[in-house]
Amino acid sequence: MIIPKAKKLTKAQRKEIDAIVGSFGCTVLEIVGVNRCVYAILGDETHKLMFNRILGLDYVSRVDLIESTHKLVGRKSALADHKVKVGAATVGLDGPFFMGGHCAVDPRNPNLYMETAEALKEAGVHALRGGVWKPRTNPYSYQGSVDAMTIAVEAKERTGLPLDVEVMDLEQLEIALDAGVDVLQIGTRNALNYSLLKEVGNRTAGTSTVVLLKRGRHIAPVDEFLAAAEYVVAGGNPNLLLCPRGTTPALDGYRNQPDESITPLIKGKSWLPVVVDPSHSVGHARYVPSCCLAAIAYGADGLCIEAHVEPSRGIGDDPKQAVTPEVFAEIISTCREIWPCRYEFK
Ligand code: PEP
Ligand code: MN
Repeated sequence: MIIPKAKKLTKAQRKEIDAIVGSFGCTVLEIVGVNRCVYAILGDETHKLMFNRILGLDYVSRVDLIESTHKLVGRKSALADHKVKVGAATVGLDGPFFMGGHCAVDPRNPNLYMETAEALKEAGVHALRGGVWKPRTNPYSYQGSVDAMTIAVEAKERTGLPLDVEVMDLEQLEIALDAGVDVLQIGTRNALNYSLLKEVGNRTAGTSTVVLLKRGRHIAPVDEFLAAAEYVVAGGNPNLLLCPRGTTPALDGYRNQPDESITPLIKGKSWLPVVVDPSHSVGHARYVPSCCLAAIAYGADGLCIEAHVEPSRGIGDDPKQAVTPEVFAEIISTCREIWPCRYEFK
């Protein structure tokens, strides 16, 4: 829909627009309103180049796309009844879903991850998380190691819990799929890496593999988050979880700007389950429990929390962010208590 700055396009302006849309196989329909005229593009109006060319005309005020960028993940989608299962748990059904584990699995200390995994199972988590490759802001920080995969997979086998691992490129994607990783995490830095999102969707099409898509800390609008999710679903995999994890600029004292309040906005537009990551949002273990409760109160279906049996011996974010399995058990219990009080989006 083209909205001109003036009340109506002149003949010359209309001719120019007709020529642009015509070269993309589209036509223009003038809709005459009481106060002004608007112009509907008939045909495939999603051509980015056509959109940009029209937007570049100095007499055009706006071009609104009616075609949704997230039609598959939208509430009116034919997929709206789809349920996402992680192992035995259906996310958001009968109580909050919990995933937990180390930020980074330390290949030199495999026992620590085993202990954490066993203790978290005892606490009641539905799935384990464990960083194998780490996206680090500092190029000289620990970058992860493929050796950690064997440890993470062993913990999955020992506990019988599904495993979440972040992948950042195609090579890691292949290794994770070969290793039997159940949840592929796309982190905040790759949240807009469309080639990776497409590839993840294609490679997991028709399988039970789940994708946990973090909200890019640079993503502002909800629609951009949903469009990124749409890439995976359009690639063939509707098993996707949306994961708000805080954005920039940070709230003074926190690691990021906590964004758990985005859940009702997401729910108003999409059927996808929301699993909030409070750990990267607030960035300090002592604030994590409050953020968890807020996330559930805002309508999240679950939580993905960094946890460690001995945070001070952890690597990556664990010394500062990880909660202990005891605290995790408390979080599970309080979140279950407030679960029935939520205002569910209708
Ligand atoms: C993580 O989960 O450890 C991580 C790096 O997350 P994010 O992409 O949200 O920073
Ligand atoms: Mn981390």
